[in-house]
Amino acid sequence: MEEETKEAEKTEKIRIFLRRSPVSVLGLGKRAVIWVQGCTHACKGCIVPESWDADGGEEIEISELATWILEQPDLEGITFSGGEPMLQAEGITSLIETVQSHRDLGILCYTGYRLEYLQQRGNQHQQALLDRLDLLIDGLYVESLHGDLLWRGSTNQRLLPLSDRYRQALKNLPDRSAGLEIHTDPDGSFFVAGVPQQPNFRDQFASQMRDRGITLTI
Ligand code: SF4
Repeated sequence: MEEETKEAEKTEKIRIFLRRSPVSVLGLGKRAVIWVQGCTHACKGCIVPESWDADGGEEIEISELATWILEQPDLEGITFSGGEPMLQAEGITSLIETVQSHRDLGILCYTGYRLEYLQQRGNQHQQALLDRLDLLIDGLYVESLHGDLLWRGSTNQRLLPLSDRYRQALKNLPDRSAGLEIHTDPDGSFFVAGVPQQPNFRDQFASQMRDRGITLTI
């Protein structure tokens, strides 16, 4: 009984690394982006290794995340990045269902797994999440295959429309980086959203700032 209660509690929250909105470089239009916390893939050259620890970040009520999204009138959609969203598929699906019961928002999700793996061997929650997605970006980040690509880091990663929502628009978009956005906070901290054109972006950026007399604290 205690186990069941714990399980029920889990699905009311999502553990996240960060959330920002609006973001225009991780999918079509203005999007609320949620970087979930927890990833087991450990890709070499991952741009957010701080998101790997499954106990890191913060747990947020799904209802709070839904309110945050629905309070923003101009959004085209939501992007789930990571971390590994498929490790919290049940909570993310619940969030999507809550939001879409009020607004028709497009859903983009990143995953380190291949679509075929999730379709054939994914658990019920992962398969239910796939059913809710308009666009999936799949595959691990492979540093040696880094490229200047639309919303992806390496050439093995695929942009897969799982509904018709973005299918036509994707055909008209150039397959190159959508650029980066710097989001600042009142305390002086900042976060860079987007997929850089070059690998090893963080070290290069920190080095360039150091040359200008600015030391970044990661
Ligand atoms: S799947 Fe994404 S978050 Fe996880 S290690 Fe690879 S690049 Fe990083």
